[in-house]
Amino acid sequence: MSADDTSTDETTSAATSSAGTIAAAASPATTTLTLADVVSLLDRRYPPATAEGWDAVGTVCGDPAQPVRRVLLAVDPTADVVDEAIEVGADLLVTHHPLLLRPVHSVAATTFKGALVHRLVRAGCALHVAHTNADAAADGVAEALAATLGLVDLEPLLPLPGESLDKHVVFVPLDATERVLDAMSDAGAGALGDYSRCAWTSTGTGTFVPGDSAAPAIGERGRVERVEEDRLEMIAPRARRAAVVAAMRGAHPYEEPAFDVLELAVLPATAGTGRVGRLDPPLPLREFAERVAQRLPATEQGVRVAGDLDGEVARVAVVGGSGDSLFDAVRRSGADAYVTADLRHHPASELRERAAFEAHAAGRDARDGRPFLVDVAHWASEWPWLESAARVLREDVAGRGATVDTQVSTRRTDPWTARIASAPLP
Ligand SMILES: [Zn+2]
Repeated sequence: MSADDTSTDETTSAATSSAGTIAAAASPATTTLTLADVVSLLDRRYPPATAEGWDAVGTVCGDPAQPVRRVLLAVDPTADVVDEAIEVGADLLVTHHPLLLRPVHSVAATTFKGALVHRLVRAGCALHVAHTNADAAADGVAEALAATLGLVDLEPLLPLPGESLDKHVVFVPLDATERVLDAMSDAGAGALGDYSRCAWTSTGTGTFVPGDSAAPAIGERGRVERVEEDRLEMIAPRARRAAVVAAMRGAHPYEEPAFDVLELAVLPATAGTGRVGRLDPPLPLREFAERVAQRLPATEQGVRVAGDLDGEVARVAVVGGSGDSLFDAVRRSGADAYVTADLRHHPASELRERAAFEAHAAGRDARDGRPFLVDVAHWASEWPWLESAARVLREDVAGRGATVDTQVSTRRTDPWTARIASAPLP
């Protein structure tokens, strides 16, 4: 979906020669995937089409043919992290945040970003970005944050719309069923997750009278005909409707096949922005915030809280990264607390004012207005995803009969380096 998804041809020469050296030293006992293979696995987990329109996800540099034996995962593609990738001998650095979010006219090494691209290419280390597509995904950033905080029964805060599907129902004489099924499958019908050529058939009797000018495959003009037929059902993406119908007509022996195309209801997807879930057992806000502080990596900011520290927290919404644009969805979700990062004064203040007003109007203590806010460092909120991304990448590579070594970056890329406590509050 972005220019970054496409070619990396300009950067191939250094990476290819380095890759060649590595390949020569490889043990024949282990199978190694190429960058193109690994990127296709990452894209299945974090589909680029689910990224926000403004985002720039995909491969930033790297040769698709280079082998990938060691992957370093980090939140930010900073100079520190590039040092680490080169030190550990990574062939691929996967980061959450884009290096080149806005268009650039140069990656000359005279710029701080261009210098990083040069260093990565010289070291034979590719850079790949999974940003808002990783936020939205199952096994993504929001889900990892929710799991780290001990939330269960998760659902997306803002679900992505589910895929638009049709159900094709066609009546086929028994000896032609397999042929029609194959043709519809080849045209894109019958795909369900990791399964293909999925179909249902049941057998019944079809009847018809061929007209005077008909050229029937079975039967005679003017006579009632009865034929044993299969009712063949397959689902297909709505975008493939015309192709599937054309393929069915092409493979069907009848001059006028009987068929239905039914539009299926669109169900919310399991992926989407943020997650909301249950805290079991519920905790007072103070204890919940202490858990957040303990389970996320340490930062200078620590954890900021807005709300009654004794108030009970049973339902929690989370968004990794900057989350103050999601307040409406958080309110609709009925969350008692909202864990996110980068909360600004005005949105946070107005949310809490409104919560207090509504609690008072409902006859409760104004301090008990929901949701409470739990603000953490942006980097800390996204860091839990790295372990989960490393684990699923190892599983996916193993599923292809290969191995990969994964490492999670140990560098703290939160930009804040100190915090000076205020004078004690009066
Ligand atoms: Zn972020």
